[in-house]
Amino acid sequence: MLYHSTRNKALAVSSAEAIAQGIAADGGLFVPESIPELTAADFDALKGLSYAERAARLFKLYLTDFTDEELRECTKNAYESGSFETPNVQEIATLADGSMLLELWHGPTCAFKDMALQILPHFLTRSIKKTGIDREVVILTATSGDTGKAALAGFKDVPGTKIMVFYPEDGVSSMQKRQMQTQEGENVRVCAVKGNFDDCQNGVKAIFTDPDMQKALADNGMQFSSANSINWGRLVPQIVYYVSAYVTMLEKGILDHGQRFVLTVPTGNFGNILAAWYAKQMGVPIHHLVCASNINKVLTDFIDTGVYDRKRDFHATVSPSMDILISSNLERLLYHMTGEDDAQIRAWFTALKEDGSYQIPVELRNRIQAEFSGSFWNDEATKAMIGKVFAENGYLSDTHTAVGICAARDYIANAPEVYPMLIASTANPYKFGAAVLEAIGGDTDADEYEILDRLQSKSGMQIPKALAELKTKAVRFNDVVAQDEMPAYVKEKLGIA
Ligand SMILES: *Cc1c(COP(=O)(O)O)cnc(C)c1O
Repeated sequence: MLYHSTRNKALAVSSAEAIAQGIAADGGLFVPESIPELTAADFDALKGLSYAERAARLFKLYLTDFTDEELRECTKNAYESGSFETPNVQEIATLADGSMLLELWHGPTCAFKDMALQILPHFLTRSIKKTGIDREVVILTATSGDTGKAALAGFKDVPGTKIMVFYPEDGVSSMQKRQMQTQEGENVRVCAVKGNFDDCQNGVKAIFTDPDMQKALADNGMQFSSANSINWGRLVPQIVYYVSAYVTMLEKGILDHGQRFVLTVPTGNFGNILAAWYAKQMGVPIHHLVCASNINKVLTDFIDTGVYDRKRDFHATVSPSMDILISSNLERLLYHMTGEDDAQIRAWFTALKEDGSYQIPVELRNRIQAEFSGSFWNDEATKAMIGKVFAENGYLSDTHTAVGICAARDYIANAPEVYPMLIASTANPYKFGAAVLEAIGGDTDADEYEILDRLQSKSGMQIPKALAELKTKAVRFNDVVAQDEMPAYVKEKLGIA
């Protein structure tokens, strides 16, 4: 299986090259030349297998230059080394109204990002070897909170790698900040940026594509790669968990073969929901995809109008991992849905960069609306939903997941037909403890650790160990830089200034 750039179809690289490079040199994203399809027998063959075994078989379809043994080793290291707190890796919870929550946050940093970032370092170090490059990999990551910590946890002390994470100074929850500032490991570095997530992401993208910077690294035996969801190595593990969730629902008798369900995904960078779309193309019977946003509703507007317009105010919300105005992975969807029209993609994304917006034709918008709908929810609605779900079910959901539940219930209320509803649950509620405690009527006038305790006594849900133990960890990183200082900072910390 070869991979093309969304901005140049003539470019064709192996999966190892796509993963090692992270982003194509022309600024495009790597996409598979075709999407493998699974039959009922293929799904049946995945029943009864452990998550790691299922994953290894599914990875084989996309990462064709990896051997079976390599893939099994990668999935074993990622999913069976004890870093996930449940042996199933992912769990499905059912609410009283019958809707199901696909809990993707049982990994070491308590957000769904672990599902991909526990395995990406294994893919990446092997990919680098396969491509014959003998350089140290420098992972540069912009984060709205969860990617950063999950990437740090994944790459910590991985030989041949260094990782630097930039987060918006005031754009993450206090628990997210703690998690990053206390990160252990010899090869890690964390820095706050004055600005929002898009400023961080733009700063990182500028460094990536700066030829002088690339030369400075190469001269010192290093090269950049990315742990953001623009890296294909992040997306495949996400496709895998949707396929695996379907197989689990078949196993449990929740669904019959081919029985369609609706999937709702709380969305920011469009990575998670795009993975679900790929799973649908592979044969997972997803009737419709609901794209849930907070008031940074650029995607809801895009799906409704066909105009993507990032020129708007940025809002900090209680679901900070979705505070994003540039949803990078939409580029992949548009590439596939335009019949791989790379020239058109180049034009739209140049317009986005230069003018801040682009518009797709009505015909394409209609096809997107046939598969996706979007809705957005403010902080009040989000917190009210956390309170309601807790009151009805005794179930605690995090702020991002609650945005998803709002969107799912709204979809069901207005849909002409009834289908089973699966909602991606993207974070452990303790990660956004203050907002969640407030939502269930608790007193939040306390520090972040007292909030964990209060949430536990009020909800009865166990504090995750990974968060409880932060209290005793020293803060290692408290640098803050402006966006234009990022290149110099990177050079200085790599020792190549
Ligand atoms: C990253 C994240 C999201 C958004 O996922 P995308 O793949 O960026 O769309 C939603 N919820 C949580 C908790 C996250 O960490």
